[in-house]
Amino acid sequence: MRTHTVSILLVDDREENLTALEALLGDLGLAMVKALSGNEALRLALRQDFALVLMDVQMPKMDGFETAELMRANPKTRHIPIIFVTAGMKDLSCQFKGYDAGAVDYLLKPLAPAILRSKVRVFCELYIQRCALEEREASLEALVAERTATLVRTAENLLESEERYRNAFELAAVGIAHVALDGQLVRVNVSMCDALGYAPGELQKLALGDITHGDDLDLDKEQVQLLLAGKTTTYEMEKRFLHKDGSIVWGHMAVALARGERGEPVHYITVIENITARKNLEQQLRQAQKMEAIGQLAGGIAHDFNNLLSVIIGYGNLAQMKMAGNDPLKGNLDQIIAAAEKAAQLTKGLLAFSRKQEMKQRPVELNSLIESVMKIVKRIIGEDIQLETSLHGGQLCISADSGQIDQVLMNLATNARDAMVDGGKLAISTELQEMEESFISLYGFGRPGHYAVINVSDTGSGMDQQILQNIFDPFFTTKEVGKGTGLGMSIVYGIITQHNGYIKVYSEPGIGTTFRIYLPLIKPCEMEGAKLLPARPKGGSETILLAEDDQAIRDMEGCILRDFGYRVMAARDGQEAVDIFRENSGSIDLVLLDMIMPKKNGSEACREILALAPQVKVLFISGYTADLIKEKGLLDKEIELIMKPISPPELARKVRELLDR
Ligand code: ADP
Ligand code: MG
Repeated sequence: MRTHTVSILLVDDREENLTALEALLGDLGLAMVKALSGNEALRLALRQDFALVLMDVQMPKMDGFETAELMRANPKTRHIPIIFVTAGMKDLSCQFKGYDAGAVDYLLKPLAPAILRSKVRVFCELYIQRCALEEREASLEALVAERTATLVRTAENLLESEERYRNAFELAAVGIAHVALDGQLVRVNVSMCDALGYAPGELQKLALGDITHGDDLDLDKEQVQLLLAGKTTTYEMEKRFLHKDGSIVWGHMAVALARGERGEPVHYITVIENITARKNLEQQLRQAQKMEAIGQLAGGIAHDFNNLLSVIIGYGNLAQMKMAGNDPLKGNLDQIIAAAEKAAQLTKGLLAFSRKQEMKQRPVELNSLIESVMKIVKRIIGEDIQLETSLHGGQLCISADSGQIDQVLMNLATNARDAMVDGGKLAISTELQEMEESFISLYGFGRPGHYAVINVSDTGSGMDQQILQNIFDPFFTTKEVGKGTGLGMSIVYGIITQHNGYIKVYSEPGIGTTFRIYLPLIKPCEMEGAKLLPARPKGGSETILLAEDDQAIRDMEGCILRDFGYRVMAARDGQEAVDIFRENSGSIDLVLLDMIMPKKNGSEACREILALAPQVKVLFISGYTADLIKEKGLLDKEIELIMKPISPPELARKVRELLDR
C-alpha cells in the first residue's frame, strides 16, 4: 500500500489565525494548505483531496456555512469532513447551523490544543483508511476486469474449439449420430445423411429402428444392456441400414454411451462406417469361389465321362457304318448312339460351365449375332409370348464364339418361356456401358473398360432369394423331373465367364426376371464370314503314329483311322511313341498325340519327335482346351488340337487337312 502525504485545508480570512493553527498542528506531519476565503477554499478543494477542512465561520463575501454547503453539494468535495472553528459565533443556534451545513464538529475558541490535535489526528486516520479502502477497491476492480478479460478469452477459445468439434462432427468422413436412450436420432452429421440418402433435418425425425433393416433390429439389444449396466464401455457390430430409397446400406457401427455428471446414461454416440462396397466384394468373392469349386468338380467328372463317351460313340459309329441297312440290331445301336450323344451333350454342358470347353473366339458384331439367333428364339418361346428387341444403334464388336453366344440366348429364352406359362413378354436389348473404378467398387465385380451389355427380361414368375442364390449351380432346377436338367444357367455362366464377361440377375417373385450380361468390347473389326465345312471327309493311305494311354480310346481311334484307309502304328505312352518314331523314321507322315500320358506327356514326346524329323505333322488330342493347356505350361506355341470326345468325321477331316497342308 502506498503511504500518503495527508493534507488538510485551513480556511480563515485572517492570516494570523491561519498561522496560529499551523503552529498548533505543525508537528503532526501534515501538509497544510491555507485559504483566505471561502472561494479560494472551494477552488483548492476541487483541485486536491484533503483529509480535513478546518474553517472559520465568519468571513466576508462567503461565510463558512455557505462555503460548507457548496462543498457538500459538489460530489467531488462532499466527502471531505469539515470542522468549524469560531471565536464569535458561539450560541447554540449557530452551532446547529454549522452541523446543518454538514460540519462534523463545531469548535469554539480558545481552542484546547490537545483536543484539536487529537480530533485532527482521528480525521487524518480515517482519511488514510478511506484511501486504503479506495485503493483496494480499485485493485479489486482491476482484478475483476482482468478476470473478466480472461473469462471472455476462455469463452472465445471455447467457442472456437466448440466450432472445431462441430466441424469434426459435421465434416467427419464417417456417419455420426447422437441417439437418445429411446432410440430417437438427436443429432446426425452430413456423412450419415449422405450415406442413407436423407436431406439434413429429415433424419432427426426418425428413430434408429426406422433406418435399421428388419432382420437386424434385435441384433444389438444384448450389447445395449451390457452398455447400460456399465459392463462394457463400447461395442461394435456390422449391420444393415435402410437407405431412403429402400436399398440396403451395410454399416460397421461402433456405439458408446455418454453419461452425465452423476453417471446417469444420457445418450448413445454411434459412429457408422459405410462398408457396403466391401460387403459386396466379399459376397462376389464367395460366389466366385463357390462357382470355381463346383466348376472344378464338374469339370473333373465331365472329363472322365467324355473319354468313356468317346469310346461308346466311336465304336457305335463304326459299327453303324459297317452294318447292313436291314440288320435287326441296327435299331438297338441307333438307341445306344442317341443316348450316348445326349450324355455327351450333358458333359459338354458341364465342360462349358467349368470353362474347359473348346472355344473358337473371333471378332463378331453382337447386334447382328443377336438378330441371327432371333428366329430360333422365336421358335423356342412360341406364339403366346411377345418378343421385343431393341438393339444399340452402333456396332458392338466383341470377341466371341458365336455358337456359344447363341447357346446363351437359347438357354435364357427357354427359361423365360418356362417362367411364362400363361404368356407374357420377352425383351432383349443391347447397349454400351463403361465400367469404371467406382462401378467396380460399388458392385464388387468387373474390370475397367467398355462393355457390350445384353439385357434379357421376362414378365414371368420371377425368383425368390433362395433360387437366385443357386441359379448358376449345375443340376439346380425347380422344374419337375424330366423337364429341367439344371444345366441351362450353369452353361450360360460358364460361357460368359469364359468370354471374360459377367452375368447378373435381378428378379422378384411375381414380377419377372432380368439377366444382364457384360461382354468386353474390342476395337471395331472386319467381320469374318463363316467358313463352311466340307460335307464328307476324305481318307488316305499315309502312315499315322497314334499315342494314347487309354487302351479303349487308342483302339477306337485306330479303328477310325484304319477305316478311312490309313496305316496306323499305336503307342501306349509318350516314350513308346518316341521309340517307334525313331525306328520307323521316314515312313511316318503324321503323329497323333494324346496330351496327358505317362512317362512322357504329349508335348515332351512332340519335342523329341520334332528333333528327329522337323517337318513331321503333329496333331494333339485333349479333353482340355488349348487355352488351358497353355495356361498349365504344357505347351509354348500354337498347336493343332482336337477336342475329346472325338467325332470320327471330325478326326478324319482334321487329319486330312493337316496332311494336305
Ligand atoms: P432348368 O431350366 O433345367 O431348371 P436352369 O439352370 O436353366 O435349369 O435354371 C435353373 C433354375 O433357375 C430353374 O429351374 C428356375 O427355377 C430358375 N430360373 C432360371 N431362369 C428363370 C427365369 N427367367 N424366370 C424364373 N426362374 C428362372
Ligand atoms: Mg433351363
